[in-house]
Amino acid sequence: MLPLQGLTPDALAALGAMDPAEARRVHACVQRDDFDFRGRTGVRRQSMEWLRRSCHVPSLEVVHEARSQLDPFVKFGLRAADGAIFETVRIPLERPGRYTVCVSSQVGCALACRFCATGRLGLQRNLETWEIVEQVRIVRRSLGEGRVHGVVFQGMGEPLSNLDRVLDAIRIFSEPSGLAIDGRNITVCTAGLPAGIRRLALEAPRVRLGLSLGSAQEDKRRSLMPISGRHPLSSVLDAAVHHAQVTGLAPLFAVAPLKGVSDSFEDGLRIGQLAMDFWKRSGLRPRISVIPYNSIGPEDPFERPDTQALEEFERGVMVGGYPPHRRYSGGSDVSAACGQLAAREARSC
Ligand code: SF4
Repeated sequence: MLPLQGLTPDALAALGAMDPAEARRVHACVQRDDFDFRGRTGVRRQSMEWLRRSCHVPSLEVVHEARSQLDPFVKFGLRAADGAIFETVRIPLERPGRYTVCVSSQVGCALACRFCATGRLGLQRNLETWEIVEQVRIVRRSLGEGRVHGVVFQGMGEPLSNLDRVLDAIRIFSEPSGLAIDGRNITVCTAGLPAGIRRLALEAPRVRLGLSLGSAQEDKRRSLMPISGRHPLSSVLDAAVHHAQVTGLAPLFAVAPLKGVSDSFEDGLRIGQLAMDFWKRSGLRPRISVIPYNSIGPEDPFERPDTQALEEFERGVMVGGYPPHRRYSGGSDVSAACGQLAAREARSC
């Protein structure tokens, strides 16, 4: 059976059982949670019979919904039919009633960044397109009058390692007859896979790129992000420049300084210089997001820098020529903040 919420109207029409207008109608009804297999969707009888025979609208079980006491972030733990558990986070935006959804693209992750809880799980499997889409649908149902304004692929997993499905999910999110989320409000965050960055630019040119830097110093970055051994920062930045030139969109550079490891003035300076260099090469000014580190548990080898060190780091970024932006990373009391998603239950699946 084909999961209907994981099919674009074009993919549905290409299956040959209905025309493009019917496919759009079905897609719109499914995404609005208004689809009825009994045939009240305005499609021909034979199309509906095919839909009944060939398709379904599967669901994910919400196993926990953790509301932060510190801020309006909400983390949802979701279970698939095979028992895999993954997480999604509802992020309030400044404008009341608008939200971004931080979605997972994999169960666990193979890239093993040392500062990330998901990386400790290893990769269990890729999420299917419908499982990525369903995360946004679940959050949307929880909103009442509010609306999903954007999506960020910064939950569990490396989205560029599951790019076919991530691209399909982006097409579904952006489809005007369905969820209608503007591509410019969708961000794909990567640890740095150059081929995937280039493909993302060509196949989803309205979508923004987020790049987790770790450090601007290659040896330090390699010690924090093992993927850097295969894809050095220079080749990742070449791909990011290509992305900016193809899409006309400036990327987001994210960095979470670690106490005594990557929080010095010099660390900040190198980040600022890297951003300046990127600006000169691409003609676009990246945004630097400094994320206060969130602990990932008792065996965590890292700590958040104290306020003074963080300010020194940010001064370094400024002296490098660049104003940083300190990002609020919410929901830390319910492990919903950046780097904390790990679906602990997943270990026992
Ligand atoms: S930071 Fe991203 S790429 Fe790195 S281990 Fe975590 S989920 Fe994977």
